[in-house]
Amino acid sequence: MMSNFEAGCLFCRIIQGQVPSKKVYEDEHTYAFQDINPQAPTHVLIVPKRHIRGLKEARPEDAVDVGYCHIVAAKLARQREIEGGYRTVLNVGPGAGQSVFHLHVHLLGGRQLGWPPG
Ligand code: AMP
Ligand code: ZN
Repeated sequence: MMSNFEAGCLFCRIIQGQVPSKKVYEDEHTYAFQDINPQAPTHVLIVPKRHIRGLKEARPEDAVDVGYCHIVAAKLARQREIEGGYRTVLNVGPGAGQSVFHLHVHLLGGRQLGWPPG
């Protein structure tokens, strides 16, 4: 796995253990940890270990990383027995609430989820 950490990126620092996090899962390609400000009983962030700024900036060669984060989300949802209803979310751009510019998939579940999201 080629690492390409970006200096000053909060999630790159979390992946490297330079900033503490509550780790939920890790493999060669992804790191998953509890959101510091949870919006549901399960609120996990799944990030590719390779720094990708966001979905807008993702290139075709990033497709496996982006897709695989969702596969990990499904695995965690299965483990947590929230398969009755959960949501994976990518906030794209500040207008949608993206505040950390290292691509991350939110896994939200464990409560009734309204539609459409706010
Ligand atoms: P977004 O708004 O989609 O960019 O999501 C960023 C998420 O990262 C938010 O839900 C924050 O609560 C979360 N967050 C920010 N800093 C930390 C941190 N140090 N550890 C865990 N989650 C964090
Ligand atoms: Zn990063």
